[in-house]
Amino acid sequence: MRKQIAAANWKMNLTYQQAEKLFDELLATPHQLKQDQLAIFAVPFPYLQLANERMSGRANVMVAAQNCSNKRSGAYTGEVSVEMLNSMNIPCVIIGHSERREYFNESNQLLAEKIDICLETGIQPIFCCGEPLDIREAGTQNVFVGKQLEESLFHLSAEQLQHIVIAYEPIWAIGTGKTASADQAQEMHAFIRSHLSAKFGDSIAENISILYGGSVKGNNAAELFSRRDVDGGLVGGASLDAAEFVKIINALK
Ligand code: PEP
Repeated sequence: MRKQIAAANWKMNLTYQQAEKLFDELLATPHQLKQDQLAIFAVPFPYLQLANERMSGRANVMVAAQNCSNKRSGAYTGEVSVEMLNSMNIPCVIIGHSERREYFNESNQLLAEKIDICLETGIQPIFCCGEPLDIREAGTQNVFVGKQLEESLFHLSAEQLQHIVIAYEPIWAIGTGKTASADQAQEMHAFIRSHLSAKFGDSIAENISILYGGSVKGNNAAELFSRRDVDGGLVGGASLDAAEFVKIINALK
């Protein structure tokens, strides 16, 4: 059975002291994570150790990085390698967030390199995909997202694909307060699953968690997550508020 996941993406927010306070608040707010559910906290690099300390020993909770280098090691000032993350016991990393694609020119091919290094190292990638507004308005979102999947993931073996989590994040819904409707999310998630199924087979595709991201809040999470192919959310803004994020965790099916 595939996992239902609430993943927090703090982006480049919070000072160290604010991060400590948010962890205190999160730990003090009751949440119910069932056996097949997972909460993931993707925090800025300097807070990974803190996140590991605060979350250690908590069942069904994982710490993630928000990015990693496509190079293994060497003279790449300012970059953070997958091996570094692994050596800090960080089990998961977000790959290809639309902000990385847009502001740092990350291409599908470069993301494929990052995915390969993660899988070789045993780190789970959360692979982000999603279309901009003009593509949605032209009605060609399936072709656009299909190409993102093909160019970054279709070189993998079925065995490798099993270790990937996918986050569908329509760019027009990220940080805009404009959420895709549950029907729009379901439609795209079903397309993603069928596209994966055509390449990797039904049983592999059925077991991949596909998260929705784009203005998920405490008051819309349950409706979005109720759909068959929506296996939770990748959450930006609302993950910076403990009560709000715990509502989202509690909305997982
Ligand atoms: C995100 O950061 O991936 C995201 C979906 O942001 P928000 O929830 O703020 O739209």
